[in-house]
Amino acid sequence: MSIAEPNAGPPPAWRLLLGYVRPHRWTLLAGALLSLATGAAGLALPLVARGLIDDLSHDRTITGALVLMSALVVANAALGALGSYVLRRTAESVVLGARRALSSYLLRLRIPAVDRTEPGDLMARVTSDTTLLREVTTDSLVGIGTGGLTLVATIVMMGLVDPVLLGVTLAVILGAGTVLGVIVPRINKASRRAQDAVGVMGASLERVLGALRTIKASGAEHREEERLHAAAEESWRQSVRAAKWSAAAGNTAGLAMQIAFITVLAVGGARVATGAVEVGTLVAFLLYVFYLMSPIQQVVGAITQYQTGAAALTRIQEALALPAEPSSARPAPLPATDAEPAALAFDEVRFRYDDDLPYVHHGVTFAVPPRGMTAFVGPSGAGKTTVFSLIERFYDPESGVITVDGRDASDWDLTELRSAIGYVEQDAPVLSGSLRDNLLLGSPEADEDAVTRVVKTTRLDGLVARLPRGLDTLVGHRGTKLSGGERQRVAIARALLRHPRLLLLDEATSQLDAVNEAALRDTVADVARTTTVLVVAHRLSTVTMADRIVVMDAGRVRAVGTHRELVAGDPLYAELAATQFLATTD
Ligand code: ADP
Ligand code: MG
Repeated sequence: MSIAEPNAGPPPAWRLLLGYVRPHRWTLLAGALLSLATGAAGLALPLVARGLIDDLSHDRTITGALVLMSALVVANAALGALGSYVLRRTAESVVLGARRALSSYLLRLRIPAVDRTEPGDLMARVTSDTTLLREVTTDSLVGIGTGGLTLVATIVMMGLVDPVLLGVTLAVILGAGTVLGVIVPRINKASRRAQDAVGVMGASLERVLGALRTIKASGAEHREEERLHAAAEESWRQSVRAAKWSAAAGNTAGLAMQIAFITVLAVGGARVATGAVEVGTLVAFLLYVFYLMSPIQQVVGAITQYQTGAAALTRIQEALALPAEPSSARPAPLPATDAEPAALAFDEVRFRYDDDLPYVHHGVTFAVPPRGMTAFVGPSGAGKTTVFSLIERFYDPESGVITVDGRDASDWDLTELRSAIGYVEQDAPVLSGSLRDNLLLGSPEADEDAVTRVVKTTRLDGLVARLPRGLDTLVGHRGTKLSGGERQRVAIARALLRHPRLLLLDEATSQLDAVNEAALRDTVADVARTTTVLVVAHRLSTVTMADRIVVMDAGRVRAVGTHRELVAGDPLYAELAATQFLATTD
């Protein structure tokens, strides 16, 4: 699914562009002036040449003229080089600005927005669409600026020479403008579709590369190949369509000027015949029509070019319109090692992932005092992981209240709330980088002693000893692949290093072997003496040692109690205990 059009009409694309260009307006202006100066130096050359030839024919020394001419040539080249360097540099700065803004924004996206968008498409917006701003900045803005100026100057001169002929010329230009008014939006539309197709391609690529083993194992390469090719071909088709309309636009402008030339010749000829104007005036005017050609081509080219950029700008704008969390200057400090454990309560929490999806929580209520271990059990799909997501405020409940330390979670500063929590997700990922980077992800300031200790308590020491470069071994995409159980221990270690006031473990030991699981259980029990620990667990051994057990089923809390109480009092729990827990207990 691609990004939906935001409800509030977005501001026009050019406004966003100006926002990115504004910090660089003076360098952009300098670049444009340098380009103009280059043109002026070029224009001066024929005059100097004329002087030189005059000097020659009058037997005067030509040294001065030669020096001047050489200086002009060098100045022309230098100004030209400097001008294009400054312009290109400015354009790259605009791209940089857009990329920085987008990447900061994407990191702050709210999880529901992430759920509904394709990461590959977002990636294309940051990488490919921003690149298109380069040409928009230089060619379009500068082209419209300098071309427009020349155009106005030329038109003023034409008006001074003969207002009637100017009227004729403007009528032709107006006609061409009408045709362009039809063509230009089509360029925009085709460019937009071409860029969308690049987004689709990014999304498909991400899908494929994320599951390449499964695709190979399923023998599905051919079908996936077709999808990728279809997206690439769609981008080609739309780009070709944009090229067709761009070509039509350029040539419409050219044709209009030829028609203007002929019309001026005809009308001007008649005016000369009636004696309304001199022949010289007509000749001068025709020369101006000729001069008009280049700025008009430049402006039309710039407008055409802008359409591609505007399509990209709109896509960037859509990404920036996705709901995001407020930005915070810096991450909140982690809790002190001796910080009080947190209390937590859900009160009649109702929640669904989207308006058109069924409720996942139908009024969930439970309370967890500080310290100790609370286990969440229940069939898969009961809403256990969702409890943790709501605590982290990845989503907001539709109604009901979640309190942390007696305070409404939505009143907490988001970074402060999250810094109090250690969260080991179900299927927590290992990030590309070293093992150490992975451990320190949530606590970059942790010292070596703390790392060594946590490596030991999470029984990662064996792994670290085995890896060629110990903690500095690369893991993840381009490094050593870790097993499921190793990944889980890394995730637990990562969470423990934050010495959280509230520790959330979502099936965090499900893939451990019996020995490691027993050891980690002791570690967690130890942590629960000073921290509030919530676990989703499927193993009876973990569940029975909990201080309280919350039994969830189909988005409701069925019962809360100890193992002994629940076996006697809750049929579902008794059944789970008898079958599921025991079946997965070693
Ligand atoms: P549990 O952890 O108890 O197995 P979850 O809390 O993960 O259950 O999921 C509860 C229900 O919510 C399931 O039906 C699941 O399909 C649905 N669900 C979970 N995450 C999302 C999501 N991001 N978007 C839509 N539905 C979801
Ligand atoms: Mg779950």
